[in-house]
Amino acid sequence: MKIDILTIFPRMFDALNESLIGKAQTRELVDIQTVDFRDYADNKHNTVDDAPYGGGAGMLLQAQPILDAYEDIESKSNTKKRVILLDPAGKKFDQAMAKDFATAEELVFICGHYEGYDERVKTIVTDEVSIGDYVVTGGELAAMIMIDATMRFVPGVLGNDISAYDDSFSNDLLEFPQYTRPADYKGMKVPEVLTSGNHELIRQWRLRESLKKTYLKRPDLLENREFTNEEEKMLREIKADLL
Ligand code: SAM
Repeated sequence: MKIDILTIFPRMFDALNESLIGKAQTRELVDIQTVDFRDYADNKHNTVDDAPYGGGAGMLLQAQPILDAYEDIESKSNTKKRVILLDPAGKKFDQAMAKDFATAEELVFICGHYEGYDERVKTIVTDEVSIGDYVVTGGELAAMIMIDATMRFVPGVLGNDISAYDDSFSNDLLEFPQYTRPADYKGMKVPEVLTSGNHELIRQWRLRESLKKTYLKRPDLLENREFTNEEEKMLREIKADLL
């Protein structure tokens, strides 16, 4: 997968050289390139922002440097691109979107700053995406969150025995509680079933705990979810136990 990031703060993306995403780059599972669109400004001071027409506080990113930087990226490959505009007004990013982005050959992230963008930037955009209902200073942190979550779905990134499909939200359920050694820590014991070696009982316990956790913490996730017969029965029992 190829990822291009249009930003005026390219060094912020050094963080992607660490941990799993760093390893994914070393192993050439992803090629991440930052493009400083300040380099494309058509004025001698490399200015990329200007005051909004009609007045108002703050400055806006101009369309020209961003559109020219994108044109340059396009001229270098004819891969089909998803062009993602980081914007608080966009569709809220979630696990399903991460999974979908992971199927793309090339992703282009456009990171805003100041008060946002000249609207004409949107002529090249395929997806306007937000990380949530709050405003951060620039699109860089938002892009890094999306890249990290997306990369977890790229085959090979997590290693063979771990799957992002088991993570919270992947099947509209939160992940079940997990424990590691010791089995008894200062009297706090690991649920017996987990040390039983009975895989079927462990599977059932985990599913029940996932359903219970989701029902208690994020009931909204269950609203439009389709349940198996086993899940329906467990959920009925969980609700009855909680009465
Ligand atoms: N004036 C803009 C508004 O009210 O929508 C906010 C601009 S914000 C200070 C600057 C840039 O940060 C945005 O253009 C966007 O790229 C990024 N940004 C801020 N909050 C974001 C969010 N929740 N999701 C994605 N990007 C965000």
